[in-house]
Amino acid sequence: MTEVLFPNAIIDELRRRIQASRTGNEQGGLLLGYRKANTLQITSYTVPQKWDYATPVLFKRSMRGHKKLALNEWRRSGKTVDWLGEWHTHPGGAAVPSFTDRQSWQRLVLHTKKPMTFLIFSDHGLYAGLQQPIPMSLRQLRQIEENGGATMFG
Ligand SMILES: [Zn+2]
Repeated sequence: MTEVLFPNAIIDELRRRIQASRTGNEQGGLLLGYRKANTLQITSYTVPQKWDYATPVLFKRSMRGHKKLALNEWRRSGKTVDWLGEWHTHPGGAAVPSFTDRQSWQRLVLHTKKPMTFLIFSDHGLYAGLQQPIPMSLRQLRQIEENGGATMFG
């Protein structure tokens, strides 16, 4: 049973990005942090880069830009920070994974062969999911605890 620990500050910052957007386009990026026995501990994230393709209903992340940012984090952390998942927004939509979202999450865990977490922010909602590669399954996570400025999902 994998749990995911998010600093509340990160959740707030990502949520605010919908309101702060001038274009109304979807946004997204990587979630980075520490992979522990039964916990994914998120410590940082990347924001949209100029090579990404974004419309109000689509966000296609380019590995360019995000990969460099993730590598910088990895080096700075003494090679301990790992790629734990992704976040993206659904401005004006629901915080529910689309068919395209599910497909791309499956592709990612087939590549990493590790559980990964995925967040979707809508104007007022939040979806948190855990995608497992073996067996391939997606589980919606619930908030189970909040303290010390962080929220545990499981
Ligand atoms: Zn989506």
